[in-house]
Amino acid sequence: MERDKIKKAKRIVIKVGASVLTRVGGGRDRTLRLDEVWIKNFAKQVTVLFKEGRQVIIVSSGAIAAGMGLLGMEKRPKSLPEQQACAALGQGYLMKTYEEHFKKNGFHAAQILLTWEDIREKRRYLNAENTLRVLLSKKAVPVINENDTVSVDEIKFGDNDKLSALVASLVSADLLVMLTDVEGLYIDDKKTVAGVVKDIHAGIEKMACGTDKECSRGGMKTKLDAAKIAVKSGIDCVIADGREKDILLKIVSGKKVGTLFQANKNKITGRDFYDKAINRVIL
Ligand code: GLU
Repeated sequence: MERDKIKKAKRIVIKVGASVLTRVGGGRDRTLRLDEVWIKNFAKQVTVLFKEGRQVIIVSSGAIAAGMGLLGMEKRPKSLPEQQACAALGQGYLMKTYEEHFKKNGFHAAQILLTWEDIREKRRYLNAENTLRVLLSKKAVPVINENDTVSVDEIKFGDNDKLSALVASLVSADLLVMLTDVEGLYIDDKKTVAGVVKDIHAGIEKMACGTDKECSRGGMKTKLDAAKIAVKSGIDCVIADGREKDILLKIVSGKKVGTLFQANKNKITGRDFYDKAINRVIL
């Protein structure tokens, strides 16, 4: 019942975490690599969604991780310029890989890099929105990431979880899917996953923690913050394990996978809401 609405979702934003699209090299090789097999399967699933008449926008992390891999770095660099350099290197590689696999399915991957100012400033956002609209009418899948090279600490989204929720809100998506490396929100010590969350109250927030991974930022805490933005904007949000076979297809067919955060009935949008969301004011 709760998942019925998802089956009809027409416009879907899918956030892909670096933890699902990268893997550590084999044996003694501890460097990160883009997981081509995963990207291939993901592209196939997204193509199915398009063919069902849905619109899909991807928000993909992985630029820094891909750059680290190319440079043979095992640890995420600490300084911002080093992270930006990795992103500059990795972003091209990431897009090349998406393009390669979407092309096999008759689609293309279109890169959109955004900063906080692009969301905040109406004129800039409208340009991005127009671009998205045209792309969606062609056989092109928008792949959004933060423009890491020009973002500085004070104005960084901080994590792509929040970016994906803001994008979902701005394009009035019906569904936000965040694919990560855990099954959903655990309500106890990694044993039970919450099936449906109707209200993200303080007790729910206590269950979430951050991450200590080399490849990504965020963790469940930033995902919950993003889920809050989504549900307050009237958008259902599912957090699920991106490594599970055909996970996207399972989600949109209403299967009980991952955690569903149900959309609020009274939706909020508008400049003030976005400013608060970006500036981490408690929502
Ligand atoms: N924009 C960063 C990247 O593509 C990732 C930020 C995040 O992991 O949320 O590597």
